[in-house]
Amino acid sequence: MALRYYRNMMTKDAAATGYRGRFAPSPTGSLHFGSLVAALGSCLDARAAGGEWLLRMEDVDEPRTMPGAAAAILATLERFGFSWDGEVVWQSRRKPRYRAAFERLRLAGEVFACACTRREVADSALGPDGAPRYPGTCRDGLPPGREGRAWRFRVEPGQFCFDDLLQGRICQDLAAEVGDFVLLRADGLFAYQLAVVVDDAEQGITHVVRGADLIDSTPRQIALQERLGLPRPAYLHLPAVVNAAGEKLSKQTRAREVDDLRPQSALASALAFLGQQPPEGMADGDLDSLWRWAIMHWNRDRLPRRRRIAAPAGC
Ligand code: GLU
Repeated sequence: MALRYYRNMMTKDAAATGYRGRFAPSPTGSLHFGSLVAALGSCLDARAAGGEWLLRMEDVDEPRTMPGAAAAILATLERFGFSWDGEVVWQSRRKPRYRAAFERLRLAGEVFACACTRREVADSALGPDGAPRYPGTCRDGLPPGREGRAWRFRVEPGQFCFDDLLQGRICQDLAAEVGDFVLLRADGLFAYQLAVVVDDAEQGITHVVRGADLIDSTPRQIALQERLGLPRPAYLHLPAVVNAAGEKLSKQTRAREVDDLRPQSALASALAFLGQQPPEGMADGDLDSLWRWAIMHWNRDRLPRRRRIAAPAGC
């Protein structure tokens, strides 16, 4: 009760502060320590600023969505004491919005049909995120006898830069490092890059706080925002949590799910991971006090300015 009162108190002036953040998990598995860190960091940065914090379920990639994962993530967040503003937004229900943005780009000649299979593109040089750079095969028209499968966004040459609130200035030459990227996939689904840009703008997100594993996607999102005439939110990329082998925690890397029975312990570990120096004993205290302390003491200056950090033992 006290916690709800306290959080409402923190949010009542949200409209006045103008800060609106979000957490946008993909329901491809249960919540692991890496997603807990992103949830906590984005929530605390919003609440400490007296802002709103929204929840969006990024289930746009239907083949990767795991049945039951979205409900499990929501239940875990609730058990951990997170409370979000408004209704959860589901990407799977927003396809007409993505279609509308895509059509605007198509009518303006900003996208083109591409016949290349994944295997054909896989032979190209690799970009910074390890994905192959698209060599521009279909940019000026489909090769004779080939049919379009996916639709790609036409990337202009030049640097796309932004000032990350934690990582500093980040620049990427999209054309050289990524190439024209897919907005509408061969399986008819819209790509994450388009969905996230449309949703962040329509939800009025002012601050995107997420893991640095997504930092290489940000220039693509900025390019789309510019072409669609959408505002650019502020970005803060928290260190991504990696396992002992240096891989991002995920279902693919068999990340362990957070322990629902010991929320204080996992939250205290996440606070420590984020450099917030929680007082000793917090893992054994009550949830209300932990949240109150965390919001009151949230300090961006203490965040480690790194792109990846190994998970603490046991996480
Ligand atoms: N859905 C993405 C993920 O779970 C996060 C996207 C974002 O925060 O922009 O990795």
